[in-house]
Amino acid sequence: MDNYCDILIIGGGMAGLSAATALAACGRRIIVLDKGRGPGGRMAARRADIAGDTVGFDHGAQYFTARDPAFRGTVAAWEAAGVAARWPAAGEDAWVGTPGMNACVKVMAAALDVRWGVRAERITPTPEGWKVHAGDHTLHAGTVLVAVPAEQAAVLLAETAPDLAALAGSVESAPCWAAMAGFGASLPYTDDTFRSEAGPISWAARNSAKPGRSGAETWVIHASQTRSRAIIELPKDEAAQVLLADFFAATGTAPVAPLHLDAHRWLYALPQALKGEGARFDPALSLGIAGDYLHSPRVEGAWLSGQALARQVLQARVASTS
Ligand SMILES: Cc1cc2nc3c(=O)[nH]c(=O)nc-3n(C[C@H](O)[C@H](O)[C@H](O)COP(=O)(O)OP(=O)(O)OC[C@H]3O[C@@H](n4cnc5c(N)ncnc54)[C@H](O)[C@@H]3O)c2cc1C
Repeated sequence: MDNYCDILIIGGGMAGLSAATALAACGRRIIVLDKGRGPGGRMAARRADIAGDTVGFDHGAQYFTARDPAFRGTVAAWEAAGVAARWPAAGEDAWVGTPGMNACVKVMAAALDVRWGVRAERITPTPEGWKVHAGDHTLHAGTVLVAVPAEQAAVLLAETAPDLAALAGSVESAPCWAAMAGFGASLPYTDDTFRSEAGPISWAARNSAKPGRSGAETWVIHASQTRSRAIIELPKDEAAQVLLADFFAATGTAPVAPLHLDAHRWLYALPQALKGEGARFDPALSLGIAGDYLHSPRVEGAWLSGQALARQVLQARVASTS
């Protein structure tokens, strides 16, 4: 496998793949590394077998908006390709990936050279650019772009690019515990979504009611920031039980024993995004950063950040050759 490229992108979530897609379209040879086993990042989906059905859970991002004209164009293409659909239960301008939230990321990744299950550990300079150390892999690139959550970017860039690391390090992200519950029958709760600004549960959704899903009744339940912080160190089985009990209490639904119950702790779920240009590229180092934390803490913000970084990289190249 070729380990040399023009631009190496660390992080194959929405921001990294947005930048990769834009730069590849301009003829750059791109490699993307992602430590995850498959596409998604914080738009991940999980599978589980419940009563003979294989069902999916969107345990991270629940839906996304498409307000920016350029992003609307991309979402229209995803809709035409059958990987996104409107989900009116979450709002007039709410979209979901189909059949899972990660479908859009998956389709972007399929057109690129993405190496899954590869965690970048260090970035060191070479006479030609950069060397990225990732377990047994060593990759070489003229330019490196880091599109991972702020706290992780700060660690990765601390030695090589202290200014970028400091910018990323100034961001604090809130955690979120997510529970995934499957039931043998529909819960007697009529709405497909639940939101609260005040209680221990900030959001819950009947996952099985999203477009393109089928099979058993499934719910994804998100604890509020306060609740998530309060139970941050609980083992996941206990956290799942806490969230399910909170959910029944919050929705006034009589408790029902689930056929399936799991939980996931997102340590860096939602950043307090920085106001600025949406991304940062250092032309002297040929290193840059993108991510929702540089634009807005949403799927659309991550996509726009990736586009902003791609523009900055291309502009820097034009400036250096003119
Ligand atoms: C619980 C939850 C609920 C949310 N709800 C919504 C919602 O309803 N609507 C909405 O618009 N947004 C929502 N969001 C936010 C949305 O998911 C994010 O804003 C968006 O997905 C961020 O994309 P990103 O590319 O910036 O980061 P990520 O998706 O986090 O992608 C970063 C990628 O980098 C990889 N990575 C990290 N470190 C390394 C490394 N060292 N080497 C290689 N790879 C690495 C990770 O595996 C990951 O795939 C939610 C997020 C969470 C967690």
